[in-house]
Amino acid sequence: LFAAPWDFISAAPTIETLPPMQGMEIALAGRSNVGKSSLVNALTGRKALARTSVTPGRTQELIFFRASPELTLVDMPGYGFAKAPKEKVEAWTHTIRAYLRGRVNLARVFVLIDSRHGIKPVDEEILDLLDKAAVSYAIVLTKADQVKPTALPHVIAGVEEKIRKRPAAFPVVYPTSSNTGAGLAELRGAVARLMSE
Ligand code: GDP
Repeated sequence: LFAAPWDFISAAPTIETLPPMQGMEIALAGRSNVGKSSLVNALTGRKALARTSVTPGRTQELIFFRASPELTLVDMPGYGFAKAPKEKVEAWTHTIRAYLRGRVNLARVFVLIDSRHGIKPVDEEILDLLDKAAVSYAIVLTKADQVKPTALPHVIAGVEEKIRKRPAAFPVVYPTSSNTGAGLAELRGAVARLMSE
């Protein structure tokens, strides 16, 4: 599934420019600098599929990748950059809300959280959006290589506690590192299982 070469399909800056739905869709969301581009590249095995953001928050588009007609991967625009003007944040929220509500083939959103930081208020806002849109989501911890192996279970437990009462949250948390490759097989497996459901 992931072994096939991934192609760039399109980049949609607005809800009017989304590509037609095809097969199952999986989206990745996370605040700027969380390691989303690195994870997209690591998951797909391609070095430059997602643009690793030079300027945080520059990528304001939903980016669509496909390896087969059955599965589309969506790189959602990063959120939470401090210097963003209010209108930009509102435009982002508008687009994301419309995407989440209208995309019936969207099977799961993986919300990326930095292992060192845990869930912050800015992350809670996207979890609220997901709960309201009733879109199933799971938390992926990034940069797991940056915390001591003995501390990781505590980070996971902290995240689990924060999502426990959230209606659309999937209870499994996936620790990953794009640097070491840890957890990538588990994440690919989770996607493969979604497809066979
Ligand atoms: P994005 O803004 O969410 O797309 O984040 P990037 O993928 O551009 O990564 C942001 C920064 O975190 C870069 O300096 C990456 O090298 C670093 N980074 C990403 N993934 C990892 C990881 O798994 N481990 C470590 N140690 N650093 C990472």
